[in-house]
Amino acid sequence: KSLNVITLCQNVFNQFKEVYDREIDFHYQEDSIMVIADELKIKQVIIILLDNAIKYSTDKIDVYVKDQLDSTVIRVKDYGIGIPENEIENIFERFYRVDKARSRETGGTGLGLSIAKNIMNQHNGEIKVVSTDGKGTEVVLSLPKR
Ligand code: ATP
Repeated sequence: KSLNVITLCQNVFNQFKEVYDREIDFHYQEDSIMVIADELKIKQVIIILLDNAIKYSTDKIDVYVKDQLDSTVIRVKDYGIGIPENEIENIFERFYRVDKARSRETGGTGLGLSIAKNIMNQHNGEIKVVSTDGKGTEVVLSLPKR
């Protein structure tokens, strides 16, 4: 089934804005970027990433969608606590949480990113994390065109 990523993102952002007082800046070139994917599952991935960005940062969040030749790329970028370099390989494991002391206050089970990774695998897509400890985190999703 094909879906418009731009509309999907806008719907999720509106839901978040009703609950959290947080600026989400959405950057995209076209009003319609279609991908073939399971709408509910991709929505769940976006929710997981935004939920993390809200939990682990206090500033605004930037979201970018870019249509490329062979894939559609969605990036969720925050300016929060970041993830230490040596932890990045672990965060996709089920129940894994970085530094239990600092994550305890935010709550969470450590399942979010493992679910997101599973969903991206089901779509033959990718999920990558680029992060600088203390500066922020960017999660990059890519969905193949076919
Ligand atoms: P939940 O299952 O409720 O999402 P969680 O946030 O702990 O709980 P994951 O989404 O799997 O679980 O994230 C795993 C760990 O990776 C988190 O505990 C946190 O330490 C780290 N992490 C994830 N996203 C970010 C982010 N945007 N900034 C900083 N750390 C992050």
